Amino acid sequence: MPATYSPRGPVMDPRHSNRLSVLQRFYVVEVLVGLRLTAQHFFGNLWRHALHSLGVKGAPGSVTIQYPDERRPYSPRLRSLHRLVRREDGSPRCVACMMCETVCPAHCIYIVASEHPNPEIEKVPERFDIDLGKCVFCGYCVEACPEDAIRMDTGILEFSSFSRGGMIYTKETLLALEAAGPNGVPTSPVPIPADRQV
Ligand code: SF4
Ligand code: SF4
Repeated sequence: MPATYSPRGPVMDPRHSNRLSVLQRFYVVEVLVGLRLTAQHFFGNLWRHALHSLGVKGAPGSVTIQYPDERRPYSPRLRSLHRLVRREDGSPRCVACMMCETVCPAHCIYIVASEHPNPEIEKVPERFDIDLGKCVFCGYCVEACPEDAIRMDTGILEFSSFSRGGMIYTKETLLALEAAGPNGVPTSPVPIPADRQV
């Protein structure tokens, strides 16, 4: 029976499986071929990485991205650290309507509202905290906001802390953040919690 072909490649004639040599039945050659291939890639990458580390011009390094010196471009749809959008005078655009606090499934937004000095704006948040230790980055707060006052477009992902308290971001911190650049790279410095300033 001749060998047949499928989109995945040739289908072996079952009778051929009985025609393996003794060497092939021990798979020694195939194991050595596999080891040679693995070693070839291992030492090739090691050599490229060594050249890159020594600063040789044009050496691309190994295939791994050299994080944090290099960062892969993030998608503009990425939900990263929150920020509060400012008005032209620098005050928060937020009107303390509590929509985001209400919709948040993790109950990690805490807002205290107060009267806005401008009579045309009803309220302003006196306090606006987000506990990022509880946040699940669902983006519901951004979706629910009627004022486009909260966004998750800073591109900042490195906001770890040594304590739970260090994960609570206040209104002032959130207002100081800017949107990421067109390639997703943060334009604001990463906020360092007090417990990491050692
Ligand atoms: S992203 Fe989701 S969990 Fe995080 S603060 Fe917004 S609504 Fe809450
Ligand atoms: S939904 Fe928007 S306007 Fe309302 S409290 Fe949240 S951030 Fe402020």
